[in-house]
Amino acid sequence: MMLFRPTTAGSLPKPGWLAETEKLWPKWKLEGAELDQAKRDAALIWIKLQEDAGIEIVNDGEQFRTHFVHGFLETVQGIDWDLKTRMGIRNNRYVVDVPTVTGPLKRSRPVHRDEAAFCREHTKKGLKFTLPGPMTICDTLADGHFGKRADMAMAFAEILNEEALDLEAVGVDTIQFDEPAFNVFMDDVKEWGVAALERAARGLKCTTAVHICYGYGIDANIKWKETLGSEWRQYEEIFPPLNASKIQQVSLECANSHVPISLIGLLPDKDLLVGCIDVATNEIETPQAVAATIEEAMKYADKERIYPCTNCGMAPLSRQVAAAKLEALGAGAALARERHS
Ligand code: ZN
Repeated sequence: MMLFRPTTAGSLPKPGWLAETEKLWPKWKLEGAELDQAKRDAALIWIKLQEDAGIEIVNDGEQFRTHFVHGFLETVQGIDWDLKTRMGIRNNRYVVDVPTVTGPLKRSRPVHRDEAAFCREHTKKGLKFTLPGPMTICDTLADGHFGKRADMAMAFAEILNEEALDLEAVGVDTIQFDEPAFNVFMDDVKEWGVAALERAARGLKCTTAVHICYGYGIDANIKWKETLGSEWRQYEEIFPPLNASKIQQVSLECANSHVPISLIGLLPDKDLLVGCIDVATNEIETPQAVAATIEEAMKYADKERIYPCTNCGMAPLSRQVAAAKLEALGAGAALARERHS
């Protein structure tokens, strides 16, 4: 088995002909059949660029959705998109008008199945698909129906599971749930967050992953990070329950981070998607810097469990910067492979 197989946390920038650029909530520039075709074209470009960069487990770069949470929810019944509730999310880091859950939840149809099948047709590399995690969904919607966040999370976990099984059936190799909320609500993670995640992954035979980060490199996150002190130890609370869970891979932030990398020692039974690319800067990492982050991780984890990755999604970056960072990631992994195979 090849050592240090690189992958990314998920999102990549939308080309300028598809959507507004360098925005977290971009507007599409096309509609109808033209938009569908353009999304596929954009996914193909990114799959090709990932392959060329030496990324071994590729994905669609989230070209099919404008935002990682709402893209999945758009077709779910039980959510009133016109009933907006003003809410502080991620423990009041951002205040936004969010849609409201008003009734029982039901997935009206597979959301990303055909898109994943299209990607599968066009790559022989490992294929990953990302979905929002149940806790993060619950933190991005207002609850006007369930009364308890844990109950709403479990209901979302059930429909995420239906979707994940559909993705697996069309040949997706890795399904990753994105749970940035895990670094914010650490008590909830222990009480019901991991259980909801396991419910979402129930019955999957493909590889399962969870991505837990400190968010995109946008102003609200940078300000939040300034309040966290010099050492970020949120992972310390959530890694033990995650290590005991059935989820196989954990994607975490390591590059330029205040997270002590020794905390990965708390995940002795998991594969580690080690963030070697900082998504909060336009500076391009050198392959040497990527290899150095991998080598730091090797002090606390066997090399066979290390998958070089990005700290988070790269959607808000420019296309040029994201492409260059992919190249750096692939080259850094190759360098580490040369040194340690
Ligand atoms: Zn992230």
